[in-house]
Amino acid sequence: RSNAEKFEFQAEVSRLMDIIINSLYSNKDIFLRELISNASDALDKIRFLSLTDKEVLGEGDDTKLEIQIKLDKENKILSIRDRGVGMTKEDLIKNLGTIAKSGTSAFVEKMQTGGDLNLIGQFGVGFYSVYLVADYVEVISKHNEDKQYVWESKADGAFAISEDTYNEPLGRGTEIRLHLREEAGEYLEESKLKDLVKKYSEFINFPIYLWASKEVDVEVPADEDESSDDEEKPESTEEEEKEDEDTDKEEDEQKPKTKTIKETTFEWERLNDVKAIWLRSPREVTEEEYTKFYHSLAKDFGDEKPMAWSHFNAEGDVEFKAVLFVPPKAPHDLYESYYNANKSNLKLYVRRVFISDEFDELLPKYLMFLLGLVDSDTLPLNVSREMLQQHSSLKTIKKKLIRKALDMIRKLAEEDPDESHDKDKKEVEESKDNDEKRGQYTKFWNEFGKSIKLGIIEDAANRNRLAKLLRFETTKSDGKLTSLEQYISRMKSGQKDIFYITGSSKEQLEKSPFLERLKKKNFEVILFTDPVDEYLMQYLMDFEDKKFQNVSKEGLKLGKDSKDKEIKESFKELTKWWKDTLASENVDDVKISNRLADTPCVVVTSKYGWSANMERIMQSQTL
Ligand code: ADP
Ligand code: MG
Repeated sequence: RSNAEKFEFQAEVSRLMDIIINSLYSNKDIFLRELISNASDALDKIRFLSLTDKEVLGEGDDTKLEIQIKLDKENKILSIRDRGVGMTKEDLIKNLGTIAKSGTSAFVEKMQTGGDLNLIGQFGVGFYSVYLVADYVEVISKHNEDKQYVWESKADGAFAISEDTYNEPLGRGTEIRLHLREEAGEYLEESKLKDLVKKYSEFINFPIYLWASKEVDVEVPADEDESSDDEEKPESTEEEEKEDEDTDKEEDEQKPKTKTIKETTFEWERLNDVKAIWLRSPREVTEEEYTKFYHSLAKDFGDEKPMAWSHFNAEGDVEFKAVLFVPPKAPHDLYESYYNANKSNLKLYVRRVFISDEFDELLPKYLMFLLGLVDSDTLPLNVSREMLQQHSSLKTIKKKLIRKALDMIRKLAEEDPDESHDKDKKEVEESKDNDEKRGQYTKFWNEFGKSIKLGIIEDAANRNRLAKLLRFETTKSDGKLTSLEQYISRMKSGQKDIFYITGSSKEQLEKSPFLERLKKKNFEVILFTDPVDEYLMQYLMDFEDKKFQNVSKEGLKLGKDSKDKEIKESFKELTKWWKDTLASENVDDVKISNRLADTPCVVVTSKYGWSANMERIMQSQTL
């Protein structure tokens, strides 16, 4: 085209496209899901803009927020069109080629180490999946603030943009035309497309239509001259005639002769039924539907089920519906740049209208691993995002969401037979259902345990609830995880405090001289080996009226021993001499120990000072 401007793809994007083009990946279907998801995003955007400015929707057909799929078998073109927000010329240049997103190189890397192409949407580069099935793609787009442009590329390292003076005007929105590769002919079959939309896009909240063919019977005047007339007549008509022969004979003869022929017509056929899952009653939604809904939210179409979900309807001053999911696995970057990340995975809707998926006010950071959505009837629709962020209802919503999330996690533990405190109960309730739930809390803990610890640090209001979800190993847990409640149930009579020790590994801790006496006297000690545990224990002071005591710190009490006083007295001179000698070495005190059995002496941290392990962690952080 003479008016085309040429651009080169950004290097990483180009590499990504090469990988896709040359991929032997068998599941090429995913491109349709990605295109529909982009169309849906664009529709969400224009609908959101229309809340404060109705004009943006235009008039006539442009006001219809829908997605249309059309096939051109002759020219092997599949096109997907939306009446979304559209793209300006600059958007086309940036979004489809010149600006690499953070996910681009991450995805390229993943693919080079045998990653799953199916996850392309999670990395924010789903559009390029079109090159799994097409060798030439045109993107025609009209944004309210610009003219209509065409983007086109044969994935040869470059793309071109031209003002569109030849296609039909779109009004507003985007049409993607895929010139299908020879071997991708199946995507010209209506039945295939219908199946794909059913399979992947059933939770899209806009109507999806297919320009579908339909065979219809048409009555046309029979042509007397045509010799084939009688043969073509359908059998049924003949039979009818025989039956009616006696009664209707005369009438029949007077009628002009007609025949029925099959004709192909086209009409828009709706492919999805858009009753949003969260608006339905939780009792009506099946496990399979929740799983599929999770997959569409997560842009993860594997076959793993979410670990848990909670679907509820909050009533009262603030009304909302919500669905929360615990994913089967933690994403690779969950705790990366935890404190400055903006990674909410909750979608916010107000009265069925999608508002944002970057709304951090809904969940605290430590629950960011949850996926889901909130649809509120109480929040106002026609205000800016900034005003919404300050709305008083948000606090209530957040509080309820946290409660529900923690309940959901608590249930994961309660339903796990491995977690049961009561051995007899465990045997009685043995069933297939239990088998599936066995070990599920350990799995949860291994993936998201750190989040629970961060919660204890950050969320004072829910600290006790979160502490109940805490799991750890102890000197007596035999390699298994145990809880604070279980620890307390096993405490020796006369033991007042909950004992713990921190260190870099279980092996290192088990050799610690601090544990000698405690082990001999059969006390159980919690072994904390994660760096975050040091911080955790600065916030977790007590649990059910029991204080926590670091056994490497001053103040360890193991109950009275009759000989204590006597021993203390007889070593008085020695401890005094030692204290005086070490005074210049930052040693506060020298005492007779009640924690050692074989080791002659040990350095103990003062009650409020950093433990040796904390010193180690701080040192490694500043280095
Ligand atoms: P993502 O959807 O995760 O942002 P994609 O690679 O699927 O990544 O799309 C890249 C970008 O291209 C989108 O963010 C959007 O800005 C733009 N885009 C793609 N399809 C459309 C469309 N149908 N309408 C408007 N913009 C679109
Ligand atoms: Mg996308």
